[in-house]
Amino acid sequence: MRLDKKSCSEEWYRIVEEIMGCIKCKLHKTRRNPVPGEGPCNAEIMFVGEAPGGKEDETGRPFVGAAGQFLTELLSMAGLRRENVFITNILKCRPPNNRDPEPDEIEACKPYLVRQVKLVSPKIIVTLGRYAGRILLGDAGIKWSNMTRMHGKVFSVELYGVKLKIMPTYHPAAALYYPKLKPVVIKDFKETLKGLVEEIREEKRNTNRVKKRHTILDFLSS
Ligand code: SF4
Repeated sequence: MRLDKKSCSEEWYRIVEEIMGCIKCKLHKTRRNPVPGEGPCNAEIMFVGEAPGGKEDETGRPFVGAAGQFLTELLSMAGLRRENVFITNILKCRPPNNRDPEPDEIEACKPYLVRQVKLVSPKIIVTLGRYAGRILLGDAGIKWSNMTRMHGKVFSVELYGVKLKIMPTYHPAAALYYPKLKPVVIKDFKETLKGLVEEIREEKRNTNRVKKRHTILDFLSS
């Protein structure tokens, strides 16, 4: 697990410590390593998947298997670098044989994600897979229908007190398993997410221009 020490607060270390020793649901009995997530705590973009798989359970890091490699490629198509985004899952421990998360596990584990969202306070969350999409959009007051209809759409919401945009898309593992989904996911990253990233960069440029102008005016009037 890699942490960006410079940008992380004590709260992040508290969350990690609690997850590392967590026994709040039955998954603690079968996991090898919990997977809290990784990335800068001031990341503007956060990715939320479903749960760790075999490689993640082995290493304690999110998205490190084949799906992780594909995610890194997708990030680069959206103009992003993996080390600049925050990546985590709804569940922090692997369900046996990668089965679907169960309601009691989601209920027990979700408070960690809520704290992560509040701490990172991202501008965009990309949900990967139907569980993450249904849960996060549901908590933001948006009714989930199905992935075919929801993927690639952008929802401006308030989630856990943070104003942000959510873009649901397919899980990279699903896109690897069903090749016909691959171009669909690529389009979501390459077009929709890239557009959102550009918007954030443009906003930043404008804020910096205004700040610079104020500094010059302050200097001239002093
Ligand atoms: S999945 Fe979440 S709630 Fe369950 S043991 Fe792991 S960290 Fe705790």
